[in-house]
Amino acid sequence: MDKKILIIGNWKCNPSTKKEVDHLLDVIKNGKIGNSKKTEIIICPPFVYLQNIIQSFKNSNFVIGAQDCFWEPKGAFTGEISCSMLRDLDCQYVILGHSERRKYFKETDDIVNKKLKIALRSRLKPILCIGEETRDTFDSEGNPLNEMSLTVGDQLEKALMGILSAHIDEIVIAYEPIWAIGTDNSCSSDDAMKATLFIRKILTKLYSRSVADKSSIIYGGSVTSKNAIEYINDAGMDGLLIGGASINGSEFVKIIENIND
Ligand code: PEP
Repeated sequence: MDKKILIIGNWKCNPSTKKEVDHLLDVIKNGKIGNSKKTEIIICPPFVYLQNIIQSFKNSNFVIGAQDCFWEPKGAFTGEISCSMLRDLDCQYVILGHSERRKYFKETDDIVNKKLKIALRSRLKPILCIGEETRDTFDSEGNPLNEMSLTVGDQLEKALMGILSAHIDEIVIAYEPIWAIGTDNSCSSDDAMKATLFIRKILTKLYSRSVADKSSIIYGGSVTSKNAIEYINDAGMDGLLIGGASINGSEFVKIIENIND
């Protein structure tokens, strides 16, 4: 069977109240988008809402993910959330290496690598975010034309250090150019496709062509109901990571409806 298109909503540090969360959930549920054979919808709310949301989506096809995890299994690490806690709640995915965590919390590639390893050991599917800071260009074969987008290769190689090929299909790779996140300045579907080819080349080098071909590579950065379909139909992305538009219930529903149509 064909792989489902992954639609991942990253709510970030939103909404501020439980009342707003309930409203958002109502809009999403009323959108009747959960039973499609084409899409898998993954909601990644802040930790404090996880339990309620998992409960509220029980017996539905919605899947829940966390926005981060800690790299140690347990212990004296005030404020941290472990992968076993997330698994115990029935979380299935975890976002790792998001550019906001790299920027504001100084997460290094080494930290991302450690988190990736424990997530896999805990049977959480990592959504590994990688992306360059400034807009880049590619040649016709998908090679980056300046050193900036080597960031993508570098982040990918360092994040995957020590991870066996058997685990690569459990990881979702999210190409998220930082210049496109939260800016309304989305990446063209053509450039997203070139970045995907570039990522598959690195995976081929690190593992094999078949591992690279099987990997799920999604796009994130200012996705809206107007541009979402292009990334799927034109760029052939395996899914989307959606920030701002995922906390606007009707916009999120519209994105998924457009893809399901
Ligand atoms: C993100 O932060 O992962 C993201 C894609 O944000 P936005 O959709 O708001 O650009």
